Amino acid sequence: MSRSLVAPGALKVLYRLRDAGYQAFLVGGCVRDILLGISPKDFDVGTNALPDEVRSLFRNSRLIGRRFRLAHVRFGDQIIEVATFRAGHLDSDEAEGSIEEGEGEEEVAAEVAAKLAADPDDRRLQDDRGRLLRDNIYGSIDDDVWRRDFTCNALYYNIDDFSIWDYVGGFADVQARTLRLIGDPETRYREDPVRMLRAVRFQAKLGFTLEEKTQEPISRLSGLIDGVPPARLLDEFQKMYLAGFACRAHELLLGHGLFEHLFPATAEHLAADPAGMAARLIQAGLRATDRRASEQRTLTPMFLFAVLLFGPISAVAQRRFEAGAPASQAIAEACDEVVRDQCRRIGIPKRFSIPMREVLALQPRFHRRAGRRALALLTHPRFRAAYDFLVLRAEAGAEDPELAAWWTELQTLPQEERVARVESQPVAAGEASTQAPRRRRRGGRGRRPPRPAE
Ligand code: ATP
Ligand code: MG
Repeated sequence: MSRSLVAPGALKVLYRLRDAGYQAFLVGGCVRDILLGISPKDFDVGTNALPDEVRSLFRNSRLIGRRFRLAHVRFGDQIIEVATFRAGHLDSDEAEGSIEEGEGEEEVAAEVAAKLAADPDDRRLQDDRGRLLRDNIYGSIDDDVWRRDFTCNALYYNIDDFSIWDYVGGFADVQARTLRLIGDPETRYREDPVRMLRAVRFQAKLGFTLEEKTQEPISRLSGLIDGVPPARLLDEFQKMYLAGFACRAHELLLGHGLFEHLFPATAEHLAADPAGMAARLIQAGLRATDRRASEQRTLTPMFLFAVLLFGPISAVAQRRFEAGAPASQAIAEACDEVVRDQCRRIGIPKRFSIPMREVLALQPRFHRRAGRRALALLTHPRFRAAYDFLVLRAEAGAEDPELAAWWTELQTLPQEERVARVESQPVAAGEASTQAPRRRRRGGRGRRPPRPAE
């Protein structure tokens, strides 16, 4: 295995642990990625040193996790996660995400307390759907391997003699590009339903094929996703949609019947009109996202939420508009309503939902091409994202491409020419500008909200 792909910080951690007399292995996705010739984005180290022992070996480390402690060793902006071998089946992320910080934390804590009172020796607690609630027993490497999800993620690279320790046939599976759960798949998905999303992610990211028994239970058990804390689903959502393989991940989620558990309102909208504008907007949006990722440009989940939720939002906005609300207000209210429901599945923090609402509510303003209001739109803090969204809508056939082209060109003009351009614009019928609209629709003002089904 080529050490050139191992970050210098990770090598330092491995060597220092070894020199202090401990076992130290690279483990998990980083070993898999290196075998595939991919540069890993993070490095996990497994060791038989206890967290406090790791802490005292590295000045640049801190312990995290209240329930299950791990060490983070920092080298610049790279963090090496060092975990003591554990028996039991839960990953650190799972423990952190779903029990310590995730929603429903108190509920879980109460459940754990009650079960412990009934049986103080029960060290691996499960809820009534088989989800693991607590497991925190240190073990050896041959215990640690069984708690990992896929065989390709359960390879250990030993710095002592540069060998790979493979208990589960992971090496052959990496060579064959096969994704195989360790143990009985149904049990493993019930313990932690996020493993179904991880299966999709590795399928999309690595082009692996799901082995038959690993694939079979997914469509049957997809509903278990509904019980995963929204904060953890937000994490997984970002890993699936913001890492350069969104188109493929999206297709797979739809195919496995998982998407409807992540975005129920969108899924319903798509089911009613599978080739409609909302579907085309999602296609165009995901293609643009993957393109940006490949160019290493910044990506914001806010934009992706706008793309994915536009179908249901515009349907609600349309109803509000027809009931008399002005277009921008109808959109803003529809956003709030759809986001509120969506947050029961994927928690959308305000730092994403607020700019998303702004971007969507700005869409009707692109129809006002005449006068100073058009120029003012150019300087709006959300202009860039709103314009990008306009271009996507045009690409998806949900907006006149001529309108998008007009705004594209306007931005290329020098200031004086911009002024001349907007001043020469006629005020179009139904267009609200500084002048009074020509016709009022049942008390409504401005243009209709943008609809994907137009
Ligand atoms: P990535 O390339 O996204 O970092 P990864 O496989 O390294 O992929 P991580 O989330 O970084 O994924 O987790 C590190 C390792 O921890 C995994 O390779 C796997 O062995 C184990 N692991 C992570 N999540 C789970 C889980 N939900 N269930 C079981 N094992 C898990
Ligand atoms: Mg990793």
